[in-house]
Amino acid sequence: MNSNENSNTKKPRRSRLNWLSRRGFIKSAGAATTAVSIGFGTSAFGAEDLPRVNEDDPMAKALNYVHDAKTVDAARRPSDRYCNNCALYAGDADESWAKCSIFPGKVVAGQGWCSAWAPKQPG
Ligand code: SF4
Repeated sequence: MNSNENSNTKKPRRSRLNWLSRRGFIKSAGAATTAVSIGFGTSAFGAEDLPRVNEDDPMAKALNYVHDAKTVDAARRPSDRYCNNCALYAGDADESWAKCSIFPGKVVAGQGWCSAWAPKQPG
């Protein structure tokens, strides 16, 4: 084996590694682009652009969601629980409507409530 043979056998390996690296980079870039697109896709719609959850929607019914928490029987809902003080409410407490992760692509009423209500964690 002479030095030319060695270099001939290594070249394809390097070339293949470079190709794999480029391929990995392209795959990563594609994934990053997709992630950014999804991020922009969801953030492009502010709460004001989204439809309100329909109380008759099967998921809303399953969770007893209502736009006006005060209409819920006191035995089922402690009086201090509203969407706007729920951990899943994506808006500020004074916002009338905001996103909720239970109802993707929709907004819930700040004065609403559902049985999935969860306390906000301090901090
Ligand atoms: Fe409202 Fe919380 Fe139920 Fe979402 S999970 S609908 S914010 S009470």
